[in-house]
Amino acid sequence: MPEYVPVAETLLRGQMGSESHQLHIFFFPFMAPGHMIPMIDMAKLFAIRGCKSTLIATPNDEPTFLKSIAKPKDSGCDIDVVTVMLPLKEVGLPEDCDNMSKITTKEMRTQFMRAIMMLDQQLELLIEKHNPNCLISDVFFPWTTEIAAKCGIPRLVFHGSSAFSIAGLECVRLYEPHKKVSCDSEPFVIRNFPGEITLSRMQLPDFVRDETDVTKFYIKLKESVKRSFGVVMNSFYELEPAYADHYKTFRARRSWFVGPLSLCNKETEDKAYRGNQASIDQHECLKWLDSKQPNSVIYICFGSMANFNASQLHEIAVGLEASEQQFIWVVKKDPNVEEGKEEWLPDGYESRIRNKGLIIRGWAPQVLILDHEAIGGFVTHCGWNSTLEAVTAGVPMVTWPVAAEQFFNEKFVTQVLKIGIDIGVKQWVRLFGDSVKSERVEEAVKRVLVGEEAEEMRRRAKALAEMARGAVEEGGSSWSDLGALLQELRLHRSAQNKKI
Ligand code: UDP
Repeated sequence: MPEYVPVAETLLRGQMGSESHQLHIFFFPFMAPGHMIPMIDMAKLFAIRGCKSTLIATPNDEPTFLKSIAKPKDSGCDIDVVTVMLPLKEVGLPEDCDNMSKITTKEMRTQFMRAIMMLDQQLELLIEKHNPNCLISDVFFPWTTEIAAKCGIPRLVFHGSSAFSIAGLECVRLYEPHKKVSCDSEPFVIRNFPGEITLSRMQLPDFVRDETDVTKFYIKLKESVKRSFGVVMNSFYELEPAYADHYKTFRARRSWFVGPLSLCNKETEDKAYRGNQASIDQHECLKWLDSKQPNSVIYICFGSMANFNASQLHEIAVGLEASEQQFIWVVKKDPNVEEGKEEWLPDGYESRIRNKGLIIRGWAPQVLILDHEAIGGFVTHCGWNSTLEAVTAGVPMVTWPVAAEQFFNEKFVTQVLKIGIDIGVKQWVRLFGDSVKSERVEEAVKRVLVGEEAEEMRRRAKALAEMARGAVEEGGSSWSDLGALLQELRLHRSAQNKKI
């Protein structure tokens, strides 16, 4: 088992004698690709470091999970999947609505969250049956803190975001700078937060701007985080030292920075099997990229949730062609429309852009693409996974945030890391992006790929990518933070055993 040998863990076991038998961790991700993918990576990482990792999935997602963990499992890592059934019928949802990516309305979202809260008994039974030493569950599952406590194990929260955005959002809610401006578009500085970060009210999530049901849920999440054992972050200390410190000290959160999690995928296959089944053969994709010069291709993808209407997609198509740059563009597949006949596709587009552009309808092997030397820029919606994957690959970004905490991530990329240019989106919207004209797409794509500014951003991005790799290597900050966490969990287990 060449690359998965948990060297440090083996040594530690030798040193620690009977106290050090394998830790068993339960990993419970929220049912959405942007939450499941990093949690699967984390389960792999813990298994590589000698733990027994058990992932919890719904039956529909189980094959995706199994495919992602097949290679480490074959290499001898102790990693598996168990399932829970969402009570979809009970909440009035169709049977196939078992993932957030299939939820299209506000009402469905409420029903989906209700179904999730009804998983408490199933989780309790699974813990009783499998006897893990710790539960790492998504921040969206606040109720799991109580279940874990009832079962006598610690709960760690997985916050799939950066310290910058979590602490930034908390500061906005606490000091309310958005209530002291005269209009929605007037910029404000986040008070008591490092770096003079500016945002406008329009760029804040709806539940921060106004009191909604989600606001109450957000408060519940925060309280459950405070009562938990601590927080595991998909980030690394050197990327955001001021914000990591701010989060740990000023916001008083016990946290371990163990990312970038995507770096546990080393081989082509590991990278190609992250998340859904890719809509393009990985070898075909690599062959296409291999035929291009370094830093000459822009990659455009808006994650698993964000959507654009036909007129916005048309503007992107026109902007990309006008930029005269090479591109890979990932577009959501419409099952009701024949490929090539989409409303947004300009006449004769694909024959004109042949050799220059590749449109992937559906799911792309994103990390595989970003890691290729031909990729020189990434137009992204600034989901945290995508942002961190770009950092890890050393690729500058064009930021096009849509929802969630994506505007915070945009500010982090453009104002703090200075490895991106913003496309100029003004308005937070839940799913369908704000409209951007083709000329802005054309200009931003050119700016991030060619010229001095692009070179400067690329130099900075490459330096961060080096740091990211250093962080996860033996002795690096994330490697050590994970070691410290495992040690705390062992001590906690010993203390519990003594009590019994
Ligand atoms: N992703 C992918 N292929 C796609 C779209 C997304 O591999 O075609 C992956 C991407 O690499 C990232 C995750 O899905 O790991 C998306 O997470 P992110 O936080 O960026 O955005 P979200 O989907 O949660 O909005």
